[in-house]
Amino acid sequence: MTHAGRQAALEAVATEIRSCTGCRLHQTRTLAVPGEGSPDTEVVFVGEGPGFNEDRQGRPFVGRAGGLLTKLLATLRWRREDVFITNIVKCRPPENRDPEPDEVAACAPFLRRQLEILDPALVVTLGRHSLGRFMPGARISQVHGTYTPVDPAPGVSGALAFALYHPAAALRTPEIERTSYRDVAGIPAALLEARARRERNAAAVALDETVTVAVAADADPDVAPAALAAPEGDRSEPDFTLF
Ligand code: SF4
Repeated sequence: MTHAGRQAALEAVATEIRSCTGCRLHQTRTLAVPGEGSPDTEVVFVGEGPGFNEDRQGRPFVGRAGGLLTKLLATLRWRREDVFITNIVKCRPPENRDPEPDEVAACAPFLRRQLEILDPALVVTLGRHSLGRFMPGARISQVHGTYTPVDPAPGVSGALAFALYHPAAALRTPEIERTSYRDVAGIPAALLEARARRERNAAAVALDETVTVAVAADADPDVAPAALAAPEGDRSEPDFTLF
């Protein structure tokens, strides 16, 4: 998919989210918060749900927790607009309560479609609810600062998931804030591994296709050699600062 195609597809999803009445959270929201960022990014940050400020502005992570997330990104010399930032549920749970399982389930197709469009190499989970979607069964206190192959159920496959504490938790507890600064420093290495993993997988698929076509060509001389050509994409390499 082209840059323009991804941008248009993300905006189409966002438009649906803004008018969604799929769960009870639409009754109390001010604005739905679809998410924002680069359509071309390799890295998607996924939090739990919008808070007070996000609900007012319709943008993710714009309050104090968002300020800390921006600072954490800055330590990598990344900007918010270099990545894509969204949440498990797109509307604010009243009083910032945890989203209910049926609300998460109702909203899951939107996150799935966003992830299918973006096809990220790395999903950074923010907090235990997001962690639970991408690393089922993992405990944030044990896996923060580490990565593992992502669970494909939320809509992304062949990617790695990297666990961070939620910035709101870091604001409440200075030790978690210090830990978060240490943890975020591991993201570039995770991205490098995610890229390498994708390249290995793509090479394996290409080899498999080559063997399949070669076998077919051997059986049928009318099969054109052009069939061996790999399809070309226009996705350019993002200019991330890795170290
Ligand atoms: Fe729709 Fe998700 Fe908002 Fe519920 S939280 S109303 S499913 S957009």
